[in-house]
Amino acid sequence: MSARSKTEASPAAETLTAAGLRPTRQRVLVYETLAGQDDHPSAEVIYERARATMPTLSLATVYNCLESFAQAGLIRAIHIQRQSTRYCTVREEAPHFAHFHCRRTGAVYDIVLPDRVRRLLEEELPEGMQPEDLEINFTGVSAEGHSYPPHAPIAKKSLQEP
Ligand SMILES: [Zn+2]
Repeated sequence: MSARSKTEASPAAETLTAAGLRPTRQRVLVYETLAGQDDHPSAEVIYERARATMPTLSLATVYNCLESFAQAGLIRAIHIQRQSTRYCTVREEAPHFAHFHCRRTGAVYDIVLPDRVRRLLEEELPEGMQPEDLEINFTGVSAEGHSYPPHAPIAKKSLQEP
């Protein structure tokens, strides 16, 4: 085995390393599980999915991994009232700070709002308050028979299609 192939890292491991995290086997697996099917799963769902690959994985480890990813800015925790926290990977090509939680299906969708919405809200802050993050969560019901992509951001125009 050459030295090069020995140190070759998976894309997930590279992402973790670039974010300053040591790419342990558990972290790589948890990140891959979340990013591979980024349908805003809860920690419990990530745990169930990842355990198929690593049966020794514990739910506590999954929580620890998610905590360190969130602190490193790799993922976003979505807090929905009376529901388990859901997670989504932060993708530079699709920045979003808003989500829609459907009470009917339990699905969480990315909602892309224009920058002016964010600026408008930030202008309402009292002087001296320096915002660093913003989280907007809609709760409601999505139309039946309409298939919204769970992880691809929903541009407003796609909602106007019949
Ligand atoms: Zn999202």
